[in-house]
Amino acid sequence: MTEIKIIKKVLAANDAIAELNLKFFAEKGILTMDIMSSPGSGKTLILEKTIARLKDKYKCGVIEGDVSTTNDSVRLQKLGVEVVQINTDAFGGDCHLEAEWIKDAALNFDLDNLDILFVENVGNLVCPAEFQTGMDFNIVILSTPEGEDKPVKYPLMFRESQVMIINKMDLLPYLDIDVKLMKDNAKKINPELKILSLSAKTEEGFDEWIEWIETEVEKKKVPLRIKVQEKKSD
Ligand code: MG
Ligand code: ZN
Repeated sequence: MTEIKIIKKVLAANDAIAELNLKFFAEKGILTMDIMSSPGSGKTLILEKTIARLKDKYKCGVIEGDVSTTNDSVRLQKLGVEVVQINTDAFGGDCHLEAEWIKDAALNFDLDNLDILFVENVGNLVCPAEFQTGMDFNIVILSTPEGEDKPVKYPLMFRESQVMIINKMDLLPYLDIDVKLMKDNAKKINPELKILSLSAKTEEGFDEWIEWIETEVEKKKVPLRIKVQEKKSD
């Protein structure tokens, strides 16, 4: 069972770096999110629409994970945000991002002026859930055509996430999909999961998502340390 031991070691090393990432970004007061999903569920479109709404108020950066193309980066760069691309084919075509690569990619940003860092993970519901990147929030996107049973089929992803976005709500009239069952399945795996339903295409349900981000960004801001003189008791 040497192989299992090696995998455990790799994951432990990754977890340690993820911990460092979490602390590092917290000190900078940056809100960080790891966006994960299977391919085609709408990560990039959600990011495009999200950044378009936030960019006048907050400085956003994106780390784009992909096996081999820069297609998504090109789309996001058009919004005028800083994008750093990680192509995993340089690391043997891995289907996930690792904490160390995030740590290195982060150094390319103007970190003292960054409010939000989004990571678009490689499209895959399996190993991105095993490899923590050390972000404040793991966000899983599940689109309606993917089916109600994905949370129970890929439980680790839904257990490791704090937020689930059900995307492509605009397709419901054309699908035999039970969104309530999809939500129930997700809650069965992770009762704490916050679930948002939206359509990146029509932007129905988008306000709640944006409001949630804004609340979280404000919480992350590093407080000014003002010394208050102690009140003398008489
Ligand atoms: Mg994408
Ligand atoms: Zn992988």
